[in-house]
Amino acid sequence: MKKACIISVGNELLNGHTVDTNAAYLSGELFSTGIPVGGVYTVGDDIVSILRAMNLAAGDADVVLMTGGLGPTDDDITRQVFAKFLGRELEFHEELFEKIEDFFVRRSLKMPEKNRIQAYIPAGAKAIANDVGTAPGIMAGLKDKLFFAMPGVPFEMKKMFKESVLPELERFGQGQAVAVKKLRCFGAGESTIAEMMGDMMMRGRNPLINCTVSYGVITLHIIAEAEDKAKALKMAEDDERRLRGILGELIYGTGEQSLGEVVGQELARQHKTIATAESCTGGLLAKLITDIPGASKYFLQGLVTYSNSAKIKELGVSAELIEKYGAVSEEVSASMAGGVRKTAGTDFAIGITGIAGPDGGSEEKPVGLVYISVDCGRGCETRRFIFSGDREFIRFRAAQTALNMVRLRLKT
Ligand code: AMP
Ligand code: MG
Repeated sequence: MKKACIISVGNELLNGHTVDTNAAYLSGELFSTGIPVGGVYTVGDDIVSILRAMNLAAGDADVVLMTGGLGPTDDDITRQVFAKFLGRELEFHEELFEKIEDFFVRRSLKMPEKNRIQAYIPAGAKAIANDVGTAPGIMAGLKDKLFFAMPGVPFEMKKMFKESVLPELERFGQGQAVAVKKLRCFGAGESTIAEMMGDMMMRGRNPLINCTVSYGVITLHIIAEAEDKAKALKMAEDDERRLRGILGELIYGTGEQSLGEVVGQELARQHKTIATAESCTGGLLAKLITDIPGASKYFLQGLVTYSNSAKIKELGVSAELIEKYGAVSEEVSASMAGGVRKTAGTDFAIGITGIAGPDGGSEEKPVGLVYISVDCGRGCETRRFIFSGDREFIRFRAAQTALNMVRLRLKT
C-alpha cells in the first residue's frame, strides 16, 4: 500500500509561534484519498534538517508533501534543498517570473527584487500554479516516488492542494482505498472496552481499529484498506456490526455525533421534553443540549441553582433536606430534578450537584463527587460518581454522564 509523508518546514513551527495546522489538514485529506500518512517531520529552515527529512521521508513513503520555505526571503530555502535532493540545478523560468511580476502589477506594486528567486524551479521539476500568492509550488518524480513542495501559508497551500496536487494523488493512488467508520462509546473506560474487543485491536490487522478518548467519550476508528472504496467500506461495516454485537449499549453514536445530539434526536423522535437543574456544572449541561440546532423542540428550561437559597426558591428543595444531607447529596440531587420537572412541566428532568474543586472537598465528600438524577415521572434514578481530574474535566464528565443517563433511560 502506498504511503505518504509530510514535511513541515519553518522555524516558527519549532518555537511554539505557529501550530502546524498544515500537517493536520494534509493528513486528513491524504487519508480520505486512500494514501495514509506514515509520518510527519517538522523541521526548521536549514539545509541539513530539510535534506535529512527528505531522505528519511523518501525512505519509507511513496509520496512526500512539503509545506513552507518557498517564500522570497533568505530564510526560505525549501526550493534550494529540493534541487539539492534531486541532484539538479535550479532553473529560471521566464513565464513564472512574468506571473510573479504580474501579481504585483495587479496590486499596483513594484516587485521587490527578492521575489525573483520564486521563478526558479529544479531542472526537470514542474511548477504548480499559485493564483493567490507569489510562490509557485514544485512537483517532481524521482524513481517511482512523488515529491511536492507547497507554500506554508495555509490558505495558499489548501487551494494549491485541492486544485493541483489532489488530482495527481488520485491518479497515483489508484487501486487502493481506505474507508473509515467511527463508533462513539460512553459508559466504560478505554481498557474495559479494549478488553471486550479481544483481538480485534491487534496491530497489523485489516481493518485496523484505533481508539481515542476525550472527556469520557471513547471513539473507535475502524480503518479498512482495500483495492477499491466499496470493498473497504464493506470490510469496515462488517467490523462495525461485530463491534455493535460486543459493545451493545456502550455505543451511543457514529461519526462526529455528540451525546447531546443523540439524546436530542431521541427526545424529538419520542416527542418528549426535558429540563435541567444544575449546580456544579453551572449550565454546561444546558449548553451541551442547546448546542444542537432545533433543541427548542425538546429543551424547555435550564436552571443554574448554585446557592442553597436558589435551590430552595427556584426548585422547591426543602431547607431541612439540605440541612440534613448537605447540598451535595443523593436526596438534594433527586429533589432538584423533581423540582425542575414540576416547574418546567417536562417529561424528563436532570438534577446535578457536586464538588468540582479544586477546593471544597472533605474526606466524606471529596472533590469530584457528583450526584446526577434523572427524573422521568415514573421514578427518579440517582447515581453517585467520583470523577477524577481538574475542575474543567469533572464538570464536563458530569454533564456528559448526565446525558448518557438520559440516553439509556430513553431506551427503556
Ligand atoms: P512560508 O511559506 O514558509 O514563508 O510560510 C508562510 C507562513 O505560513 C508562516 O509565516 C506561517 O505563519 C505559516 N505557516 C507555515 N507553515 C505552516 C504550517 N505547517 N502550519 C500552519 N501555518 C504555517
Ligand atoms: Mg517560512
